[in-house]
Amino acid sequence: MLWIAEKPAMEKLVTRSRLTRSVVDRFVAGYALDDAIDAIVDLNGKKVGGILDLLGEGVSDPEGAAAAADDYLVAIKRIQESGVDTTVSVKLTQLGLAFDKGACIDHLRRLAAEATAAGTTVEIDMEQSDYVSDTLDVYRLLHADHPELRIAMQAYLRRTPIDLEMMAGIKPKVRLVKGAYAEPENVAFRKRAEIDAQFAFLTDWLFRRGTMPAIASHDGELLDHATTTAAQNNVGKDDFEIQMLYGVRSELQESLAAQGYKVRCYVPYGSAWYPYLTRRIAERPANLRFFLRALIRR
Ligand SMILES: Cc1cc2nc3c(=O)[nH]c(=O)nc-3n(C[C@H](O)[C@H](O)[C@H](O)COP(=O)(O)OP(=O)(O)OC[C@H]3O[C@@H](n4cnc5c(N)ncnc54)[C@H](O)[C@@H]3O)c2cc1C
Repeated sequence: MLWIAEKPAMEKLVTRSRLTRSVVDRFVAGYALDDAIDAIVDLNGKKVGGILDLLGEGVSDPEGAAAAADDYLVAIKRIQESGVDTTVSVKLTQLGLAFDKGACIDHLRRLAAEATAAGTTVEIDMEQSDYVSDTLDVYRLLHADHPELRIAMQAYLRRTPIDLEMMAGIKPKVRLVKGAYAEPENVAFRKRAEIDAQFAFLTDWLFRRGTMPAIASHDGELLDHATTTAAQNNVGKDDFEIQMLYGVRSELQESLAAQGYKVRCYVPYGSAWYPYLTRRIAERPANLRFFLRALIRR
């Protein structure tokens, strides 16, 4: 599914279809920053925090990276003015990691400083395996000045336990996810049982050696494992987060928040929704059926 999705002809077909709109609306808060802020106000009313994400990745020119950073600065200002409870999440390839690591670091440093001044924090998404080493370098580099930054780590990657062990000294602040990209077998586990086992192992690691872990999943068994492990390790409900995606298991998000857990919902907005949407569809056959029905009804 992810392989087909990367074909330009497929992207053209899907993005030009007006009918894709209903599918996009389910997973994306809207095109404009205001749409995302409205969605977060709504979530906050249900005791769920936001993770604001301006869609976009794989930027290939300095102007594009600078524009993305500027858009994030505008978003951070809006967060401050509106007083909503949200973090912001960035992809480092959106800030130019693929072609100018130095400039990417400068952009991220600025966003982190402005976010702190605005009373919010920045989270760093983890992308394809080719970018993992550079992303971790950037996180480690900025950690001394910005320990509040959170980094996503992918349980499907074979290397992740070693990466975490190497960062144990700084007690990393991690968002643990299964991983959403098409990766070769020698790089990432593919069997669900293997990914889940590594996710549970890394959850335990983070509760013992991380800072304020965020367990980002919709998987009931893994969330149960996290809440049970937290209780067994005397980790309070305020000392970790549960994170989920906009449009996915919203009732569970609200129910966990009502039980006193700190829950955040990842709220994407913007026009560059195609890669994000295809990852959500690839995750779940039911989403593919929903999507194909929308295309056929055209
Ligand atoms: C807050 C957050 C941030 C993320 N950040 C990153 C990141 O930086 N890098 C990265 O590679 N990945 C990221 N992901 C995506 C992640 O890697 C997984 O691809 C995604 O969360 C699905 O895995 P799962 O843990 O929910 O388990 P799954 O086994 O995929 O799903 C468990 C159950 O959850 C429900 N479910 C899951 N996904 C969907 C969906 N799309 N639509 C409807 N129901 C669904 C279904 O009931 C399913 O049976 C993030 C996920 C979250 C929640």
